[in-house]
Amino acid sequence: MRSRHEVAVVGAGLVGCLTACYLARRGYEVTLYERRPDPREAAPERGRSINLAISERGIDALRRVGLDEVVMKAALPMPGRMMHAPDGTLSFQHYSADGLRSINSISRSDLNRTLLDAALAMPGVRACFEHRLTGLDVDSGRMDFETPDGPATASAPVVLAADGAYSAVRGRLQFLPGFGFSQEYLDYGYKELTIPARDGEYALDPGALHIWPRGQAMMIALPNPDRSFTCTLFWPKSGPGSFEALDTVERFEEFFAANYADAHALMPDLADDYAHNPIGHLVTMRTDPWQVRGARAVVGLLGDAAHAIVPFYGQGANCGFEDCVELDRCLEETGDDFPEALARYGSRRKEHADTIAELALTNFVEMRDKVASRSFLLRKRLEHGLERLLPGRYVSRYELVSFSTMPYAEVQRRITRQNVAVAAGALGALAAAVAVTARLARRR
Ligand SMILES: Cc1cc2nc3c(=O)[nH]c(=O)nc-3n(C[C@H](O)[C@H](O)[C@H](O)COP(=O)(O)OP(=O)(O)OC[C@H]3O[C@@H](n4cnc5c(N)ncnc54)[C@H](O)[C@@H]3O)c2cc1C
Repeated sequence: MRSRHEVAVVGAGLVGCLTACYLARRGYEVTLYERRPDPREAAPERGRSINLAISERGIDALRRVGLDEVVMKAALPMPGRMMHAPDGTLSFQHYSADGLRSINSISRSDLNRTLLDAALAMPGVRACFEHRLTGLDVDSGRMDFETPDGPATASAPVVLAADGAYSAVRGRLQFLPGFGFSQEYLDYGYKELTIPARDGEYALDPGALHIWPRGQAMMIALPNPDRSFTCTLFWPKSGPGSFEALDTVERFEEFFAANYADAHALMPDLADDYAHNPIGHLVTMRTDPWQVRGARAVVGLLGDAAHAIVPFYGQGANCGFEDCVELDRCLEETGDDFPEALARYGSRRKEHADTIAELALTNFVEMRDKVASRSFLLRKRLEHGLERLLPGRYVSRYELVSFSTMPYAEVQRRITRQNVAVAAGALGALAAAVAVTARLARRR
């Protein structure tokens, strides 16, 4: 390897910028290569997930490099979910048993700008914007870019891919023997809509993530600091009530008004949003391994480039931020032996990324369908009751995922143990009740 101090990070999105902060703190010279212009000078792309929910895992990763306060200053806490029934009836549920913990709505572009500013303020970090990676030689670490001034090349002994779900770096690795990759698309797409401020105020309660569960489809809304809400429609791509079927503004608006009446009344720009905002795809991507070693370079994958997941647990960026923490830990453990650290990082993170990918898929069914049912509300009340009755011993899956940093696969193992214990406790209580009833019957 030429120098252990040079790292190229491809992609200056959320994970790329945070990775640069972590590496600069360890003394690396980091160059961020980003296909877009400097986001601090350009407007955000239309319809590209305007805001997202950050929870404990993401905040923990930010805290470790001293960025939690600056980021959270701009965040809006959402301590629960507000369900909107078709007749406009509202029901609110806290996310945590104590009602105190929140997930946090944050602007994607503000977060990206904050992280980029933080990275570029650190010694040794520089960024090359309008550099789209088009080629990579894994053996030498040579990268080819398209830039407004024509083709460019650069090389580094360590190349980290943080270039998102459709990663160009990963695209190169996919040609290598032994590199595993899979992608699964949902038959659903998403489209962003807006509920603007009404008379300068929020048109809905800003202290909640709003959900319009409609069985086979749903809409959610998260508050923004400018008092608007960004709504995301998750609809089937084809069939009744789909993007394909509702292909004119008139058909769409008629259907929307009938099924989301309370929201419709708050959306003066609906027709324009519908016509101009693109339909996004929902994909789960898995890779294995997360790193490839060449003769003179090593390439690693972080964030969506390694594990794109569907957004229904609000964990994609949180999980990507955890990647930065784990890579940093592995560098520490290996004395900054980058190839060894990347191998360790990949083998540790893979299981957890696979778990949250599955949980996110399952949560889609829960959000669009089950949250509206009485049995779901009862189960949540029961869960919160158990959490209060057995503090620290019974904790719901949602709380462990959103309000802790317990690795995702451990969360699943713990939930399985808890469910067995609760079932055994319930059976024990039932057996005791049957015994008492039988004793009383004998006495009579
Ligand atoms: C609708 C929706 C809602 C979501 N909501 C949440 C949520 O509530 N909470 C949450 O935690 N996560 C959420 N996510 C997931 C989250 O957006 C991603 O997990 C996160 O953005 C991943 O960050 P990243 O840096 O890995 O990739 P990205 O954010 O995609 O950044 C990749 C960067 O690489 C650049 N790039 C791409 N190709 C190249 C190239 N060839 N050369 C150079 N640069 C390149 C891109 O321009 C971009 O800047 C949501 C996702 C969607 C789609």
